[in-house]
Amino acid sequence: MTIPISTTRLPAMRPLISRHVAVIGAGAGGLVAARELRREGHTVVVFEKQNQVGGTWVYSPNTESDPIGLDPNRNIVHTSLYASLRTNLPREAMGFRDFPFVETGRVHRDPRRFPGHEEVLGYLDDFVTEFGIGELVRFDTDVRHVGLVEGGKWEVASKKGGGDLVDEVYDAVVVCNGHYTEPRIADIPGIDVWPGKQLHSHNYRVPEPFKDQVVVLIGSSASGVDISKDIAGVAREVHIAARSNMDGFYGIPGYKNVWLHSMIVSAHEDGNIVFQDGNAVCADIILHCTGYKYHFPFLDTNGNVTVDDNRVGPLYKHIFPPSLAPWLSFVGLPWKVVPFPLLEFQSKWIAGILSGRISLPSQEEMMRDVNAFYSSLEASGVPKRYTHNMADYQFTYNDWLANELGCSPSEEWRKQMYSATSKNRAARPETYRDEWEDTHLVSEAHEDFIKYTC
Ligand code: FAD
Repeated sequence: MTIPISTTRLPAMRPLISRHVAVIGAGAGGLVAARELRREGHTVVVFEKQNQVGGTWVYSPNTESDPIGLDPNRNIVHTSLYASLRTNLPREAMGFRDFPFVETGRVHRDPRRFPGHEEVLGYLDDFVTEFGIGELVRFDTDVRHVGLVEGGKWEVASKKGGGDLVDEVYDAVVVCNGHYTEPRIADIPGIDVWPGKQLHSHNYRVPEPFKDQVVVLIGSSASGVDISKDIAGVAREVHIAARSNMDGFYGIPGYKNVWLHSMIVSAHEDGNIVFQDGNAVCADIILHCTGYKYHFPFLDTNGNVTVDDNRVGPLYKHIFPPSLAPWLSFVGLPWKVVPFPLLEFQSKWIAGILSGRISLPSQEEMMRDVNAFYSSLEASGVPKRYTHNMADYQFTYNDWLANELGCSPSEEWRKQMYSATSKNRAARPETYRDEWEDTHLVSEAHEDFIKYTC
């Protein structure tokens, strides 16, 4: 089916092609993908296994039956949020580009610049209402299998509640299933005989169960830092094992019961955990704040896409497997980024390519680009598992996509705000969410927002 849609880059009289597209997941990625696909004239079905939109931002007090997530038959809880979580990005920078994350008329709102998680979910709900996306979503519907069928189309098998498996055929599938649900666990020699409890931060919600416990927390990423402070108020001792700390161990300023160590060397039957710095601690609990694995249990690509040491590949620009492009795509794989605007750029690009408005290079050219990228990572000594870490180049990436799309690049204030926040977080780890010096950038952002909010 072809439908004419006018866009600034569209050559005169060239019809856009409307595809039938399945989007898997109704988190921030799936929602913006659905909006962009429909804007481009495609028909869209969003599959969402939960009973509401928001993905990660749907907090649940429930945790999984296996607290470290090794049992493949455990009950799965999607979210990894803890009750006290506030965003680690300022709301102005965090929101979608044309739907600013600013004050709304909502009754129970959190006006803070780094709000609690409920405010983010409220923002995503507002986004859904504003763009009428709810009608595209099939709730309580778990995608069990996605595989190729004849004619290059995709079969999507899904199950709603306790119902039967339903098979449908789509022209294209956009995978937006998130990547903060499948825990990655530290490998600790001797752990099998160590008598204590273990859990992954995926199953951390509130500090109370850690009362009077001696806790060894592994990892010093955003969640690890937040959680160590959360539990320090009730635990007897908190010992953080961090790869980044090579030289000895020391107390954390402002806390009487928190110490930073180097990595763990071994765990022992008597309850002791031995660190590289030579210290040993008799611990009750190990809390793994060690990150997550990309996981696509429903996806069968005949080996065209694999997850190898947390590299999803081969993917052109972290989105399209060259041999299956543009019929299979991934939204939201990059990390150490400002997610929402990046999800928006990726989604617009996918939508434009599927309609024929934007062209992809040949399969061979895409593969050459992917291989050159992998070689450059290797040459710089970047481990494979950091393939989708975009800390150093997220805005270059967004601007490359913007150029393909013919739209404006990332806002200068957003780039500067991201960098100002990173510096402020390093300088004021305890208070960066409530004290800052980039007020001029907040004003610039609000001036920019006027075009969307008036
Ligand atoms: P998700 O939000 O995970 O959504 C994926 C959706 O897919 C879910 O709704 C899930 O139910 C659904 N799904 C999965 N599999 C299936 C299936 N088989 N069938 C049907 N549905 C399925 N970002 C920020 O911008 N600021 C922050 O401060 C911030 N803090 C964070 C703190 C934590 C602890 C975590 C874990 C993440 C944080 N993030 C933050 C990143 C956050 O992941 C992104 O903001 C955003 O939620 C990513 O959206 P997504 O759509 O890619 O994935």
